[in-house]
Amino acid sequence: MKDSYSCVVEPAGLDRSFDLHRAAYERIFARLGLPAIAVQASSGSMGGSTSVEFMSPSEAGEDLVVRCPGCDYAANTEKATSALPVVVDGPGPDVPERFDTPEARTIEELTRRHDVPAERQIKTLVYVVDGRLTLILVRGDHNLVEQKLIDTLAATAVRPATAEEIQATLGASPGSLGAVGVTGLPVLADEALRSRTDMTTGANTDGVHLRGVSVERDIAVQCWADLREVTAGEPCPRCGTPLEVVVTIEVGHIFKLGRKYTETLGVSVLGPDGGRVVPIMGSYGIGVERALASIVETHHDEKGIVWPVSVAPFEVAVVVLGGSDEKVAETAESLYRRLRGERVDVLMDDRDERPGVKFRDVELIGIPYRITVGARGLAGGTVEVTTRATGETRAVPVAEAAEHVRKLLTAAV
Ligand SMILES: [Zn+2]
Repeated sequence: MKDSYSCVVEPAGLDRSFDLHRAAYERIFARLGLPAIAVQASSGSMGGSTSVEFMSPSEAGEDLVVRCPGCDYAANTEKATSALPVVVDGPGPDVPERFDTPEARTIEELTRRHDVPAERQIKTLVYVVDGRLTLILVRGDHNLVEQKLIDTLAATAVRPATAEEIQATLGASPGSLGAVGVTGLPVLADEALRSRTDMTTGANTDGVHLRGVSVERDIAVQCWADLREVTAGEPCPRCGTPLEVVVTIEVGHIFKLGRKYTETLGVSVLGPDGGRVVPIMGSYGIGVERALASIVETHHDEKGIVWPVSVAPFEVAVVVLGGSDEKVAETAESLYRRLRGERVDVLMDDRDERPGVKFRDVELIGIPYRITVGARGLAGGTVEVTTRATGETRAVPVAEAAEHVRKLLTAAV
């Protein structure tokens, strides 16, 4: 990562630095030919408030981004939310009822064997948050996003509890856990469980569940939060359009850090009125190596890389066919020198190899334009100019070749 930092006295100055960096990075990604979605993100361990990630769609990526095709809503799954349809429950019994479930240890088994739909179940997860056993409740068909848990509790160390820790505290094994009647442990619940009634959950006795559970009546929830993972097809929180989930590579991340580091480091400066002021910081990272890798992922075909001209290590390759022919060698050399003289990055392939080998090498390493100089073309006064991206080849008079390529390069950036 290449990082840039801003240090200002006024909050408005932070907003301005942040917006300028965001705009600059968007221009950089556009020039690199790299599609990058700006998404809301978690600030993670860096802390701070607003945080925007630049995510480039790629099957080779490691991060999931939720994006709306109907408006500009986009967020990392660590931050994404959706407008779930309201589930209408029956009132259920006055108190929860125990029932035996000896062979139902998962959400799916409870659905299959006892006819309880996943969205009517409460999934109870047990985590150790900063050393303290904590119960996390999500709907049966939902998954927890650990980063949301970390952000909600401002936690520094979060891990799933072991089966032994769970047994020692709750007296049951995973598969029969629940939060009904649990006191003395923090209980967090996802917003999708708010107001739900007639639900099913584990009874903290192996092989037993409870049905008819009314979440707010029967469970001592201490904290409600958005903790669940959004999945494709759920309605956009802004416009209701079904959301897409895209695999991406993170190529940049910018934060409004605030005073977290200047306060910690004891940094202060003189303000306009001569008094001491703690500056406000922003942090702006762009992944140089990641950007290169993402460009290759975005710009390639079965033959190899297709570099955009703006980042191609060489823009043009002069490929010499039959270099022992004096006229061929002279023409190639002259084109090479002329293009270099015009500050074009040009590579000359005068190896004693078959044409197919040379062409495949230029395609593999992705040089945007190839000028092929051979005796057959020169007999008609031409060389061939091939565009890597399209494969299109044109015969161009020798005298016009350098200018022709220069125009192609200018049009491409
Ligand atoms: Zn939308």
